Amino acid sequence: HVSIVLFTSDLRLHDHPPLRAAHEARQVVPLFVRDRGVTDAGFAAPNRLAFLADCLRDLDAGLRERGGRLVVRSGDVVEEVCRVATETDADEVHMAADFSAYAQRREQRLRRALEADGRRLHVHDTVTSAVAPGALAPAASDHFAVFTPYFRHWSGVRLREPMAAPRTIRVPDGVGSEDPPSRAGLSGVSAGLAAGGEAAGRARMTSWLRDGVGAYEDRHDDLAGDATSRFSPHLHFGTLSPVELAHRARKSGGPGAEAFVRQLAWRDFHRQVLAARPAAALTDYRTKHDRWRSGRRAGEDIEAWKEGRTGYPVVDAAMRQLRHEGWMHNRGRLLTASFLTKTLYVDWREGARYFLELLVDGDIANNQLNWQWMAGTGTDSRPNRVLNPVTQAKRYDPEGAYVRRWVPELAELDAPSVHEPWKLRGLDRAALGDYPDPIVDLSDGLARFKRSRGLD
Ligand code: FAD
Repeated sequence: HVSIVLFTSDLRLHDHPPLRAAHEARQVVPLFVRDRGVTDAGFAAPNRLAFLADCLRDLDAGLRERGGRLVVRSGDVVEEVCRVATETDADEVHMAADFSAYAQRREQRLRRALEADGRRLHVHDTVTSAVAPGALAPAASDHFAVFTPYFRHWSGVRLREPMAAPRTIRVPDGVGSEDPPSRAGLSGVSAGLAAGGEAAGRARMTSWLRDGVGAYEDRHDDLAGDATSRFSPHLHFGTLSPVELAHRARKSGGPGAEAFVRQLAWRDFHRQVLAARPAAALTDYRTKHDRWRSGRRAGEDIEAWKEGRTGYPVVDAAMRQLRHEGWMHNRGRLLTASFLTKTLYVDWREGARYFLELLVDGDIANNQLNWQWMAGTGTDSRPNRVLNPVTQAKRYDPEGAYVRRWVPELAELDAPSVHEPWKLRGLDRAALGDYPDPIVDLSDGLARFKRSRGLD
């Protein structure tokens, strides 16, 4: 009896229901397919490929410690799974549920192909979500469109118990595999990119739940303090389990843990929206807006935004953090997204696409639906909120330390000048070198926004 475990965005051994279920068979083929469908869709950004390489090497190492190994193939995922199933005479395949349009199609194709050969596909729900999409729905709809009631229901769900990692894995002899990919040789990877893999994720989980979560409620918005968990790439690649994280955080207790668990619910919330409305990855989810700026001037503004040269220091700091680390603080994501979509009035899809090119946690559900939330086309109940970058900077970077860290041109300035360098005069101003003047006047931006939204 041979089972295949197809790993996708669940690259771990701890708390892994598909592996646990397959392990009851005598032999297991732990399989990862470098899926041509994903690369062809342009979803293989260098930062995520590098993090993925770390994850696959670590998964292989973890399997080897247990007497097994990871089988890596490249090609069309359905064809490769069927090929391995034929080679090993496997009668079942286990995998984690996933929810993008692509993932839903992949599952259907795989199920059909396997069943045509008399094999079975088992899809496990609570591997990459704590509460699965579809598990909760209001009376009149197939999903929740508003977070607060979703969260109330989510909080009442009894999560399954986390599972231990298997102690041994027996892989059938003779299954051909490529070497797991490596980071070396990848170009375009951010210099400050975090290390991937389950071992790194679990080390971070242990230390942050011990030292960080207690202050999370007070400090999660402190840009310079950098006090959030940084679990997002691990949740994206599944090197940490959301079920295990929720259990452990709840055990540690207190307002910090509660606030953190609420963020895990936000993640599930967006996933259930995407599962029900896969088109929301590209089209406006609730309110349609189509008067976005385009043309040469808008193109120049988009470039300045990408490069971190808008002349608004906190926006520029956040955009430069993104480029340097492949990650950005949540407060930075909010205020840079507001700046692009509301102050510059540029289509959220432009911003979402650029984030996906760089973010190591770049995720269709979380990225697209957070962009829509901020653009006012998504699930925000106050779709016309505008975050003023100067007010945001003074509130969330009061000392200016975040700006000084990422914008060296302003490293000699104190708060509040560091947030409004255009107010400097004479020699002070000359000392800024080539740091740009603001590309837009905030009140002009606000007036344009109101006009475009018919709010005058
Ligand atoms: P913590 O504050 O420690 O939160 C813990 C976990 O909760 C996160 O790892 C994440 O999985 C989840 N979470 C936190 N905030 C949110 C949120 N607003 N929505 C959904 N889940 C959340 N997150 C991604 O994982 N991938 C993305 O591509 C992504 N793009 C974003 C784009 C924009 C414009 C905005 C405003 C937010 C985006 N987020 C995205 C959500 C959030 O910014 C990140 O999850 C968070 O900053 C990651 O840092 P952390 O792990 O330290 O978070």
